Amino acid sequence: MTLTEQMNDFSEVIENDRAHVWHHISQHKRYETVDPLVIIEGKGMNVWDAKGKKYLDAVSGGVWTVNVGYGRETIADAVREQLVKLNYFANSAGSIPGANFAKALIDKMPGMSRVYFSNSGSEANEKAYKIVRQIAHNKYGGKKHKILYRDRDYHGTTITALSSTGQLQRKDQYGPFTPGFVEVPHCCEYRSQYGDDGDYGVKAALAIEEVILREGPDTVGALVLEPITAGGGVITPPEGYWEKVQEICKKYDILLHIDEVVCGLGRTGKWFGYQHYGIKPDIVTMAKGVASGYAAISCTVTTEEVFDQFKNNPSDPMSFFRDISTFGGCTAGPAAALENMRIIEDENLLDNVTKMGDYLLGKLHELKEKHEVIGDVRGKGLFCGLELVVDRETKQPVDESITQAVVGECMAQGVIIGATNRSFREFNNTLCLSPALICTTEELDEIVTAIDNALSKICG
Ligand code: PLP
Repeated sequence: MTLTEQMNDFSEVIENDRAHVWHHISQHKRYETVDPLVIIEGKGMNVWDAKGKKYLDAVSGGVWTVNVGYGRETIADAVREQLVKLNYFANSAGSIPGANFAKALIDKMPGMSRVYFSNSGSEANEKAYKIVRQIAHNKYGGKKHKILYRDRDYHGTTITALSSTGQLQRKDQYGPFTPGFVEVPHCCEYRSQYGDDGDYGVKAALAIEEVILREGPDTVGALVLEPITAGGGVITPPEGYWEKVQEICKKYDILLHIDEVVCGLGRTGKWFGYQHYGIKPDIVTMAKGVASGYAAISCTVTTEEVFDQFKNNPSDPMSFFRDISTFGGCTAGPAAALENMRIIEDENLLDNVTKMGDYLLGKLHELKEKHEVIGDVRGKGLFCGLELVVDRETKQPVDESITQAVVGECMAQGVIIGATNRSFREFNNTLCLSPALICTTEELDEIVTAIDNALSKICG
């Protein structure tokens, strides 16, 4: 088939898409004049659209997911083999890939013990919230039921996950929300809401303590935080922050829930983001990179101490975790996840992330020297952000149209980059990069050159 024939072939796909698919987080009016992007193939770091255009993907499937890159035949083989053997059985029973993946995962998470399977990051967080609520009921007579979340963090799309999300415009028009979720301030040092006179991390953590004291420590059951805020602007924690946060949680008997949906499985150069900061979480949730998008799987992981409270108590027949997720019993997820972990380990991808991440950050700092519009460069491993500002003194964020124009210009050059989500409060001005863990310096150079060109063209 010639390329022209192939393109004609896909023109029907594009028309069917335009006519019937409701795209995620998209303004559909534009598809009246512009063809929707339809991605049809991927290999390594690259994807191709239905018109035959090739792109270098600097955001791992658009939303920091395809950690080990596209076209991994061994994952496809592992999933196929498993599906032929046993595709599904409800997870009230065990499965071979489920048991093996849980063991492999816990081996990478000292201090953690139990894995609860579901299908998305939002769902994994919902499970965590239910665990916290049930502990509040069983242990504290319902009192310690509040869950604190942080301004600018995102924890998912379902109503309760949104209730715990610190991005106002994401929530706009979807209320009323689930009660019992309370916001604490973010810790973005660049925005220096606690001044520039030192100890920023400690001050940001103490701001959380203030909320706990205001709400009453005996009403607060858990604190949920991203180790590095992702969609809220790639916010790396200031020094001293996590030590203090951990201390505060301990002091008030508050469970620390770390949302690793983005950072999990290697993105920052360790298996999990929290492992950079010496954090000892009680609950960890993960999704995107767990199987790199080859199958839908998410996990809510707890310590044995948390799990212990759900062991059947003969005096209370309702004390076990009365939760189920039908597709948490799909075996494709853990089969893909196990092979995904093997790839990360056997190909030394954590080392590659550290090396390539340092290289990328260095290049982005060089870019900052050249472009006044870059106010701040942040990141850890292959997880970086460029915050764009009108003026470096005032730090006024550029208009969303600028970040979107830069994304569009990179796309025209054949490089897909991301930006803080379009339904964010005032800080939707950060360009986001999260290339696959396999990337090379040549590919990173191509990404940085595309951004350089785009910034020159759009911001002068
Ligand atoms: N938590 C974080 C930190 C996320 O970034 C996301 C999604 O972007 C979620 C949770 C929700 O995950 P999902 O879209 O799989 O429900």
